[in-house]
Amino acid sequence: MKILLIYPYFLNDRVYTIEDVRAVPLGVYYVAAVLKHNRYDVEILNWHNINSTPHRIRETLAEKKPDMIGFSILNANRWGGIEIARVARQINPRVKIVFGGIGATYLWEHFLTHFQEVDFVAIGEGEHSFLKLVRCLEANRPAAIEKINGVAFRKNGQPVRTATAEPIGQLDDLPNPAQYFDYQHLALTRGCGGNCNFCGSPRFWGRQVRFHSADYFVDQLERLSQKGIQLFYFSDDTFTANKRRAIEVCRKIIEKKLDITWNAISRVDHVSEHVLYWMRKAGCIQISYGVESGSEKIRKYLFKNISSEKIHAAFSLTQKYGIMARAYFIYGAPQESRQTIQETIDLINTIKPLAAIFYILDIFPGTALYEDFKQRLKATDDIWLNRIEDIMYFETDPALTREMILAFGQKLRSNFFENLPGFVEAIELIDDEDLYSRHSSFLARLAMTFDHGDYSAVDVIEQKDRLVEKLYRQSLNYYPNAEACLGLGILYQKRGAQQDAVDILSRGLSHFPNDVRLNICLGVSLMNLADYDQALARFLEFPAEKDAVHFAARCYEALGDHQNAALFMDKYNTM
Ligand code: SF4
Repeated sequence: MKILLIYPYFLNDRVYTIEDVRAVPLGVYYVAAVLKHNRYDVEILNWHNINSTPHRIRETLAEKKPDMIGFSILNANRWGGIEIARVARQINPRVKIVFGGIGATYLWEHFLTHFQEVDFVAIGEGEHSFLKLVRCLEANRPAAIEKINGVAFRKNGQPVRTATAEPIGQLDDLPNPAQYFDYQHLALTRGCGGNCNFCGSPRFWGRQVRFHSADYFVDQLERLSQKGIQLFYFSDDTFTANKRRAIEVCRKIIEKKLDITWNAISRVDHVSEHVLYWMRKAGCIQISYGVESGSEKIRKYLFKNISSEKIHAAFSLTQKYGIMARAYFIYGAPQESRQTIQETIDLINTIKPLAAIFYILDIFPGTALYEDFKQRLKATDDIWLNRIEDIMYFETDPALTREMILAFGQKLRSNFFENLPGFVEAIELIDDEDLYSRHSSFLARLAMTFDHGDYSAVDVIEQKDRLVEKLYRQSLNYYPNAEACLGLGILYQKRGAQQDAVDILSRGLSHFPNDVRLNICLGVSLMNLADYDQALARFLEFPAEKDAVHFAARCYEALGDHQNAALFMDKYNTM
């Protein structure tokens, strides 16, 4: 039996493809691992952007000839799932189509009522129900499907569902997906003790948080890092839901000497100095916190039960340990006004986050907000027959207008970016020698964000060069750092300060003599100073590096050795 698990494309193209949208949801890897463990032929297809080459859908499905396709459905990609399922049906009318994931769970009846392409919906956690479904279909025992908890299907043409499946109690019993697949998103936990009314997580995973053991989790990391993956996203709702467990994970990462960096998500009321220290030591570079609003009234409405004091404390501590504190904000909630937006701006200017994401309040099935919306507007799930990705709260509230909400978003964003340099200037890192090398890489990474990363293209941020230089310099005050030396070297080259560039690059090479980029960059500065012999000597040390070969050709040319110049140019052109 050939099974495909597909992560379909979204209805609207993304302006920014942030890591959360591009990545196949972690649950898909778990379902696939369970199937692999049971010796099924299963493949995962990340089709989040296949709509840019639509002919590949038909070609791939015709080539792979699946007997069954599971689709990972979020609200925004459900039309992608339906469209791909239609193509699959045209190719093979007998192919079985299963929708699963958070977007399918709460709309199971809707999908089975309106879309004949969908045969089954896996409700909730899919690992066990999907496997049982596969077994029933393989054995051609359709009647047995009614005995599987957590599935929905059509019976006599009507959508029906079975009882809710029990949440998986022992997460470590699940086969480790890293045995079979490569991915960057992992989770130590399932579930969230919170109860925010805009969030589907508590109902989907449960409010009782379940944990993997630290051993299972770190084994997953180790296997993935052995395959060359060094950057991870811990996508738990709250990685530090149990601080002791989080510290155990960090200690094991350090014990195993895993050379990794990672981003995590937490809550402002679930962090402490101790856990932040261990997280930073173990390679954590960013923690995202849901702050949502500076207005207590709006936080209360959203059931975001966190105090301003906790928000201040978490942001100040996180940044003190050299971890980028990222804030999620939501705007466009009921009673949003210029005053509440100003309260959010005031909060931002106090907590000084180094990254902030601003979302318009959306209404998703599976949330308390959605139930409220259906009641208020006498709406039904048929609203999803429209080709929309989501419902924005303001569209349902006559007191709010689109113009008003868009202007609020604009104001929040421009305030953040205008003040960001000041937030950076205000960073105060803890004076702990044990963390100096971490502080150095934190400051160098922050400099790179302004130098050539996300913030480099934001025009409202003023005097980026000055900030970048200062950050690289601060980084080097803590510890030798190749990135900081290279960044400064390039900065000085651009300014035409070649001797400064030579000095800083040479300083870098005294610590990292084999660093290819530092060597080549120094060679370029020497060329700029017309010291072609020295520059050439440096380039010749890296005969396999394309840039080095190119610059070597130019040095030979400048030295009048036209034969070698031609030789190296030929080599460069064939590399
Ligand atoms: S928004 Fe975060 S804290 Fe609130 S319920 Fe969802 S996962 Fe939990």
